[in-house]
Amino acid sequence: MDRYVVFGNPIGHSKSPLIHRLFAEQTGQALEYSASLAPLDDFTAFAKAFFQHGCGANVTVPFKEQAYRLADSLTARAQRAGAVNTLIKQADGSILGDNTDGAGLVRDLTVNHGVILKGKRILILGAGGAVRGALQPLLAEQPEVIVIANRTVEKAEQLAKEFSELGPVFPSGFDWLEEPVDIIINATSASLAGELPPILPSLIQPGETFCYDMMYSSEPTAFCRWATEHKAGYAVDGLGMLVEQAAEAFFQWRGVRPESAPVLAELRRSLAVKV
Ligand code: NDP
Repeated sequence: MDRYVVFGNPIGHSKSPLIHRLFAEQTGQALEYSASLAPLDDFTAFAKAFFQHGCGANVTVPFKEQAYRLADSLTARAQRAGAVNTLIKQADGSILGDNTDGAGLVRDLTVNHGVILKGKRILILGAGGAVRGALQPLLAEQPEVIVIANRTVEKAEQLAKEFSELGPVFPSGFDWLEEPVDIIINATSASLAGELPPILPSLIQPGETFCYDMMYSSEPTAFCRWATEHKAGYAVDGLGMLVEQAAEAFFQWRGVRPESAPVLAELRRSLAVKV
């Protein structure tokens, strides 16, 4: 049986084994997918040992940069992102590194939620790895502008500089922003602690602004609650991004694109069940 894993540390609560089991059932692909707790001090040797027999892997926190360095070759989007979340064993035994996070975000926004990004003013909160992966696919949709606001402004400045050749992208601090925007994407890890970046409610055009939190949870996240409280047009979490980045990885491995909607529905149900 073809073997796949997700590497992470910690990894116990990963949804990837469930998602890929459902994809495999749905598409009739015979494969085995499991969660793998990789050691913090020796990811590379651990991953290479798996690939003596394994066919592919997903990579999550904190190994995406190490996976980037481990890969023998990189897709253009992984090269741009500087991080790898999908490893693919090639016919010659070499390992290709890809990054499907940004494609997953854009597909969730445009296909699942019907958001048109072309000509829109997009504000991204945060300047970490997830933003780095998302900028190229977001800019490819030709928004009017992307503003990256971050607590450490230098990181936003660095990202804006690196990606400015692909489209209009500018750095900012949180407290420089006042005017309403069309779309706000929260890519800070503040939500993990139930916190919010310090941003003004005036950024929301009531009834219009689309607010997206990359984090997901069984309850509305702190950012989604803030968006709802200030009458945003939509307040959506990142569960769809998780499923879509997985669907893109599955496609890269198996050459078959699974249907994500039923898997997303199943996952939402499983999140609602308290354990
Ligand atoms: P990183 O650790 O690379 O970056 C974290 C970012 O959050 C930095 O910009 C950091 O700012 C900022 N930050 C952290 N705490 C606070 C705070 N209290 N107030 C304001 N800003 C804060 O994380 P990632 O980019 O990998 O992930 C970001 C989020 O996206 C996480 O919640 C993650 O779960 C989610 N994610 C979801 C995915 C999905 O499939 N749904 C996929 C990937 C990520 P600073 O630079 O100043 O430290």
